[in-house]
Amino acid sequence: MKFKSHLLFMISLWIPVLTIAQSADLEAKLTIEMESAQISGDFSISNYEAATTALRFVLNDKLKVNQLSLNGQNLSYEVIEEGCADCKFYDLKTPKKLTTSDILRIVIAGTFDRYEAGENVKDYKGKLVSNYNILRASEQSKWYPVIVENRELSSYVLKFPYRYAITTTCPDCKHIFIGKGEPQGKQGTFQSEEAEAAIMLIAGDYDWERTEQGIYLNMKEADILKMDSMIQSIRAYYSKLTSIPMGNEFILAHLPSDNPNWGGFVSYPAIVDVRKKAKTNNAAFISHELAHFYFGDYYEPKSNLFWFYLESFAEYFSHKYMLAQDANAIERDFNNLRRIRLTHYIPFIKSFKGNHFRFVKLAKVEHMNEVTGIHRYIMGSFQLLGMEHEIGEAKMMEFIPILFQNLKAEEHGYTTFINSLREVGVSEATIKTIEKKYFKRLKLKSYDFL
Ligand SMILES: [Zn+2]
Repeated sequence: MKFKSHLLFMISLWIPVLTIAQSADLEAKLTIEMESAQISGDFSISNYEAATTALRFVLNDKLKVNQLSLNGQNLSYEVIEEGCADCKFYDLKTPKKLTTSDILRIVIAGTFDRYEAGENVKDYKGKLVSNYNILRASEQSKWYPVIVENRELSSYVLKFPYRYAITTTCPDCKHIFIGKGEPQGKQGTFQSEEAEAAIMLIAGDYDWERTEQGIYLNMKEADILKMDSMIQSIRAYYSKLTSIPMGNEFILAHLPSDNPNWGGFVSYPAIVDVRKKAKTNNAAFISHELAHFYFGDYYEPKSNLFWFYLESFAEYFSHKYMLAQDANAIERDFNNLRRIRLTHYIPFIKSFKGNHFRFVKLAKVEHMNEVTGIHRYIMGSFQLLGMEHEIGEAKMMEFIPILFQNLKAEEHGYTTFINSLREVGVSEATIKTIEKKYFKRLKLKSYDFL
């Protein structure tokens, strides 16, 4: 079912950039050998202020720690395997709380899997793996030590922002890419001025090309041309819509995987297509991902409505772009929403509590994950389109910057939402209508309101 694959595709994409107060510097020497599938790294973490002497970091389970020291003094540690997906936790007690001048050195080495045609059907974003002679690791693969500050979070979403400076060597690679910017040759240095939580690694046998719209990795010329004109059109639309020019730092990579149920993922600013044949006409997907330039990067989603502010707004922009191309472009999504509502929400609301299809009204959401996948990717965007129908596009564009400026992690996201509507002059009567029609229940009977 097209809808299903589209949804699954998106669900795996954007991992929460939870509000983390801390960041650190990560300096590393990384050595890769494609032929023997070896990877080793000498990492130094500094400029980090720890809250306690109990420190935890996480690493991919293909990697082993060979040395761990603080300011040159070896430290002992405990390895915890439970509760970590394709990874291990390392717990250590430091003699004192780490301050900005301390240097924690972690020397690691390991062997990654190498797959050829049809072998890697269980592939996903968290793997540290070479498919078809291209090694791929996202921040979710934990190919570098990721500090764990929130132990409540699932290992899938653990991230830590580093200002990184990584020197790489890979004698049998054609190109290496890390984080953002252009790929480099067999040897290179990658660094960031600002802390980044998604540090992606792509190394091995591939070519790349830069155009005005972005950087393309491992893509055919004809595909690049198609993608380029689509991205140009989306960028022009969003930049005009928001009056905020969109950057061109996007990395578009085609890294084929053998998992037939997987479409791709994003480690901002890299958008990765993992299908066997690159999909160059998926405007709904690309416009969603590019919208994260605004929702996720330019505007920071916060509060218990994190997923709504991140995903529903990105999908709302995507819908607007699609509708601008073709008035009926999202009718299928609309009908899917109605179908899901009838087949899932209503019976589930009555019978199950805690089911992931359960619909919790935005005003009642306590934990961020109560905004379920279907709510954040499908329903939320229609709620926003419905609201736009009431107040108009110009008012929506006035509202969005005010809303994100007002968002605070600790305040209920819905309170901020309604107060921000008031702030841009939406009347109490209209707010009441919006709440009644779109946010307190969702009974969209026809497509007409678009
Ligand atoms: Zn998204």
